[in-house]
Amino acid sequence: MIPYKHEPFTDFTVEENKKEFEAALEKVKGELGKDHDLLVNGERISTDDKIVSVNPANKEQVIGRVSKANKDIAEQAIQAADEAIKSWRKWTPRARAELLFRAAAIVRRRKHEFSAYLVYEAGKPWKEADADTAEAIDFMEYYARQMIELGEGKAINSRPGEDNRYVYKPTGVTVVIPPWNFAFAIMAGTTVAPIVTGNTVLLKPASATPVIAAKFVEVLVEAGLPKGVLNFVPGSGAEVGDYLVDHPKTALISFTGSREVGTRIFERAAKVHPGQTHLKRVIAEMGGKDTVVVEKDADLELAAQAITVSAFGFSGQKCSAGSRAVVHEDVYDQVLDRVIELTNELTVGDTTDHENYMGPVIDQGAYDKIMSYIEIGKEEGRLVAGGTGDDSKGFFIQPTVFADLDPEARIQQEEIFGPVVAFTKVKDFDEAMEVANNTEYGLTGALITNNREYIERAKDEFQVGNLYFNRNCTGAIVGYHPFGGFKMSGTDSKAGGPDYLILHMQAKTISEMF
Ligand code: GLU
Repeated sequence: MIPYKHEPFTDFTVEENKKEFEAALEKVKGELGKDHDLLVNGERISTDDKIVSVNPANKEQVIGRVSKANKDIAEQAIQAADEAIKSWRKWTPRARAELLFRAAAIVRRRKHEFSAYLVYEAGKPWKEADADTAEAIDFMEYYARQMIELGEGKAINSRPGEDNRYVYKPTGVTVVIPPWNFAFAIMAGTTVAPIVTGNTVLLKPASATPVIAAKFVEVLVEAGLPKGVLNFVPGSGAEVGDYLVDHPKTALISFTGSREVGTRIFERAAKVHPGQTHLKRVIAEMGGKDTVVVEKDADLELAAQAITVSAFGFSGQKCSAGSRAVVHEDVYDQVLDRVIELTNELTVGDTTDHENYMGPVIDQGAYDKIMSYIEIGKEEGRLVAGGTGDDSKGFFIQPTVFADLDPEARIQQEEIFGPVVAFTKVKDFDEAMEVANNTEYGLTGALITNNREYIERAKDEFQVGNLYFNRNCTGAIVGYHPFGGFKMSGTDSKAGGPDYLILHMQAKTISEMF
């Protein structure tokens, strides 16, 4: 088996690559507006009630209509998953892994097509869409290899006359509720991890991006997934989501999304319902309020670039986004000025046009929320770049920079999930760490410095799950930067890391005397 290596990113400065991507955009444009079915026990089901997915850059453009499940259908799906696990858990780890390799190969062959869907459905710029698709492939390639390794279990000791083994078994029927911001990568990663470990899945996609999820379900079916192993049940959180989470037959809930929904699921999953014979496990990856810290000895150009990229990549709609810049007072003005300059150079618009650095935000709700935070920011700090939006055709917001914030200000504490970064000035490294750690979240953080002592201190003091030195705080790569946060950012599951699959399994000790 070829050792794992992450999928390369496409270089769009190469004319041929650009042409191919444009062709994929054209092809997908011709497919938009179609109906997509549910999948329950291998049967496609069409319902009258549909989620209508629209292009956030152009509200008039329908990406697709996806059938919605209700409680009855959710119940059928749970029964199907409960039945299918009986045989699926007996497939060898290698056979399950091979299914993922096949699915990865299918996606790789149609890579730009999937990225084009992300451009239309999530409003992703080409580069971000390409990275999202690459990450989806990476999850399949990485978890497949991990499963083959874990298939043998782990070594433990045996005494003379005794044979002890330590192996991993599936957990049970798994509910997967992914986010819309990595509409392909996280959706695919959180779906294939329980599958490859021998569980069966109920996938409830994000309502803003159900079409890309439907396309991925087709790939897994094409790759040979037996019926009932993956059931596709889009629907509302209140009706379908709660039903799946509460059901006595579901055993594991894998959620990525807001803190509010994540904590709600965590609480609900704790309750033992009549007929339930196990305690449920929850994997919850929630929000972030991530900080880029700049020390006075830093490379200031690198610092300004890191702040800008971390804040505005995919319009700040990443839980890893650097929405706070905490900068030493000696270099504060210089860094701020350069970030303003860089920000003013960024272009915003429909990302089918490769020239636009930033696309829209995901929907009206996000637009309204971000614009209201911009109003709060105007009260709390000094607006130095951006600050305006236009939702007449799509949900466009200019990259926005605020200066001179109190670390306790709302825009320095609450997750905005949009293109807004706020600066706070500090007098030394102690204060920088104190401010960086003063939020409820602990997902990512970056420190820009050339001082080794600060680097060593930050390794311990900076309370984040993903800590980066002298680079941006976004863009974790599967198998290279296992991803997950501390504190209220979630259960630190470390997606794309060596411990992730184990969270989907139960360890079994088998001891025999001979
Ligand atoms: N893994 C992504 C990154 O490092 C962030 C994931 C998320 O926003 O949910 O940028």
